[in-house]
Order: sequence, then structure tokens, then C-alpha cells
Amino acid sequence: MLSLGHSHKLTEYTQAFFHLFYPHICLQCGIDTLSQKQIICPVCESQLPFTNFSLMNINPVDKIFWGRVPVDKAFSILYFTKESIVQKIIFELKYKQNKRAGYLLGKLMANELNQLQEKFHVDYLIPIPISKRKIRSRGYNQSKLLCESMFQNGYKVPVAESLLKTKGTTTQTNKDRLHRGENSTPIFKLNPKINLVNKHLLVVDDVLTTGATLEMACKCLWQAKPASIQIVTAAYTLA
Ligand SMILES: [Zn+2]
Repeated sequence: MLSLGHSHKLTEYTQAFFHLFYPHICLQCGIDTLSQKQIICPVCESQLPFTNFSLMNINPVDKIFWGRVPVDKAFSILYFTKESIVQKIIFELKYKQNKRAGYLLGKLMANELNQLQEKFHVDYLIPIPISKRKIRSRGYNQSKLLCESMFQNGYKVPVAESLLKTKGTTTQTNKDRLHRGENSTPIFKLNPKINLVNKHLLVVDDVLTTGATLEMACKCLWQAKPASIQIVTAAYTLA
């Protein structure tokens, strides 16, 4: 049996071994002094393109949902532009099974929400569900990962998987952008096990583009008669 000392030593070896093959290099500047949870260094983190939308009374993300679905407050933390560090981080999150990307984005969302806490109360974080096929290839639901990271980083609001993905839906990526919002096929249904009546909800997603997915998610959630719905996404892009 291993004593505590031995197992500690073993962990050190494992970490050194792991570092050899998966060095913790900053995705942006290449510096290699990152901790196991970091994906970029603190300097590059401070230089991320923050939107500061949460500080505005009305911001561009609020306007996306006007006339489509009632949302009390909606905002994104970072600007998403092509060839940018934000695009790299989102790519790691969605296509490279890199949970550290989710940890970082969840932390940034938690930081901003904790500063706003007095302005609006939230009972549940609601992740956007993805298909089982996507969970298998990705290893996780990135939206749920963001919620969990927000919790780990001090935004202590429980996660409620109130939205369920319905079967047999086609992906929207090939459809004309103008027609996406008009797709009336429901892609979500409510989880009957969770009571959302009079609850304040915060829907969490990775990237906001047209808002079509979030619009459908919120429309579905309103059927559960919550008190309010808010939206936060890690990044915001103009399609
Ligand atoms: Zn860096």
C-alpha cells in the first residue's frame, strides 16, 4: 500500500510526465509557466477583448432578442472575431476536448456576474443541451461545462438541466441565416422533473451569433412559468 508521501511523489511524477507530452503553454504568447487549469497566461487573460456589455443599461446583445422573446438582461463577456485568441479558446472548447477552455470562460463569466450580483437574482443556471452524438464526440456539453466552471469560480448558483434536446432535428449551419429564426420545429423540450415556476433563470451558452438557438431555448423555458429569464454567453460575434 502506498503511504501518503509515496502517493504525493507519484502525483508529482505523473504531472511531470503529463507536462512532457501536454505542456501547459499559453495559447496566445507561448509562455510555459501555466498551472494545470490555465489555458492562457494572466497577461494574455487581462488583454482579452472584453465587451463590458454587462455594465450597459442596453447593450447590443439585449437588442438581438427584442421582439423575439422576452429576456430581462442579456450579455456576452468577450468579442469573438476571426483569427483571434477568443476564436482559439472557443475552438479548444468545442473541437479539442479541452476542458481548461471551459474553465477559463466560466471563470470570466463568474467574475462579471459576481460583480453584478446585487442587480439581479438568479435561482438556476440553465445550460443549452446538445445531442448525445455531440456529447460523445466532444466528451462533454460545453454549455454545462461553463455552468460548472462558473460555480467552481464562486458564482454559487445551482445548475438545472431543465432543457432537453428533442430528437430528429437537423443542424442549422447549412441553412440561410435569414431563415434560421423562422425555423419553427421545436428543438428543445422541458425536463418535467424540474419545477421552474417563479424562478429566476440564467441561460448559459458559449457563442452568440444570430440568437436563434437561445431564442428557442427561452421560448421553451417560458412555458415553465419562471419569474424571469436572463442570458449570458462567453462570446459574441456579428455573423
Ligand atoms: Zn500569454
